[in-house]
Amino acid sequence: MAQVTIAPFEATALDAIPKIAGTARGTFRTHKTKNLAWRKVQLRKLYWALHDYEPQLLAALQEDLRKSAFEALLSEVGWLKKDCMFMLDHLDAWAKDEKLRAPHVPAMYSIMNFRIRKEPVGTVLIIGPYNYPVQLLLAPLVGAIGAGCTAVLKPSELTPRCAMVIKDMIESRLDRDAFAVVNGAVPETNALMGEKWDKIFFTGSAGVGSIIARKAAETLTPVVLELGGKNPAFITKSCPNLALAARRLMWGKTMNAGQICMSQNYVLIDKDLVETFVVHLKQAYKDMFPRGAKQSPDLARIVNLRHFHRLKNMLDNTRGRIVMGGEVDESELYIEPTAVLVSSVDDPMMAEESFGPIFSIYPVHSLDEALNVAHLVHRTPLSLMAFGSKKENERILNEMTSGGATLNDAYFHGAVNTVPFGGVGDSGWGAYRGKASFDCFTHFRTVAETPGWADPLLAVRYMPFDMGRLRL
Ligand code: NAD
Repeated sequence: MAQVTIAPFEATALDAIPKIAGTARGTFRTHKTKNLAWRKVQLRKLYWALHDYEPQLLAALQEDLRKSAFEALLSEVGWLKKDCMFMLDHLDAWAKDEKLRAPHVPAMYSIMNFRIRKEPVGTVLIIGPYNYPVQLLLAPLVGAIGAGCTAVLKPSELTPRCAMVIKDMIESRLDRDAFAVVNGAVPETNALMGEKWDKIFFTGSAGVGSIIARKAAETLTPVVLELGGKNPAFITKSCPNLALAARRLMWGKTMNAGQICMSQNYVLIDKDLVETFVVHLKQAYKDMFPRGAKQSPDLARIVNLRHFHRLKNMLDNTRGRIVMGGEVDESELYIEPTAVLVSSVDDPMMAEESFGPIFSIYPVHSLDEALNVAHLVHRTPLSLMAFGSKKENERILNEMTSGGATLNDAYFHGAVNTVPFGGVGDSGWGAYRGKASFDCFTHFRTVAETPGWADPLLAVRYMPFDMGRLRL
């Protein structure tokens, strides 16, 4: 990897925050961001900034999370370049006014011109998490730029090098009056929350999401929340290919060392399949890490000591049995991909979101029992995975909701950058990605225009009313 220098982390001065937010609001009031050509220039600039800053971004991701260059390109830098291209390709069509005709407009009002204008919501605040510190901060920005908003970004302080590179990149390459980055932790986020926004886009934990939503409610500011959840994977007796299920679920828990909001927290599996499933899991482990997971340059590390100990405590306190992995090394923030056989929903392994390379295996006697357990653990998880027959998979979808779902694989619904992504209930409010990113930052404003010549046809509406002319 090329040698690059990354500035040491520096939080934005608290007293600078009102001015930063004010500049973004003021710029929106100039209306320049509504111009489609301006938006496209910013999207192209972002694309080329990602291209030019690739060495710094890759180095920062390596230092903050030990994320491999392969993963960093696939799911962060390359992902975002594709987002910019997709937005550029479709922006003209999405931003166009939509004429409303029958059946949306009743025939009797067809003389009026009804349309939907696509207007930017205004100035938005985007708050990001640590696990995909580049993608999850800048993918919403692509939507905000496409929609014509100005934006202030708050990267996670847990990935400080990424935060510094992003600040330098955004502020040196995009229109500085329209887009800014505030670095910091809780005090800086609180200061940002004290400003007036037209929308807040938050990705992070449910606990902090609830703080953000409460604060936003004071000023009736709309919020999008992209949160986490305790995601189930179902493996039924008629699972068509148990080895494939094991391999795919191992993929789910090894990418980014399982620090993925959509990966399985626990696998609900028919009790008769457990033993063979564990054999397949171990085989998948061997195939992925021929020299052991710790030696692999591909496996990321846990972001910091606090999260390392959170995961270690889950393993230390479980009443279950470790059936794969289990090694931890604090000096490297290393946690081995680990599966734990558990038998109770209040086992520490099941009680909280794992958000790491560890997951539970929970044997069940039937699909009925599996669905009951999943409802008990979390009624509205962010994602759900099902490895059953077609009929069983449809039953699972029908009887258990989730933000998104994947059949016969781990979280693939969230691995494609153009399809809508979001939670449901307490795993998230709102969606983005692809066209949904444009829609997320757009106000769909209905406009009616009544021609003057039509007044005789509308005379019935004026007082004095005449019941005899009322047509319903
Ligand atoms: P987090 O909630 O701790 O932090 C997210 C952001 O909020 C950070 O920028 C942080 O600085 C800020 N923050 C933290 N505490 C705050 C407080 N008290 N007041 C105001 N702001 C505060 O989340 P995280 O640990 O960075 O990320 C992990 C969580 O995010 C997991 O729960 C995961 O499931 C979830 N997540 C969800 C998605 C999704 O798309 N749904 C994606 C990634 C991560």
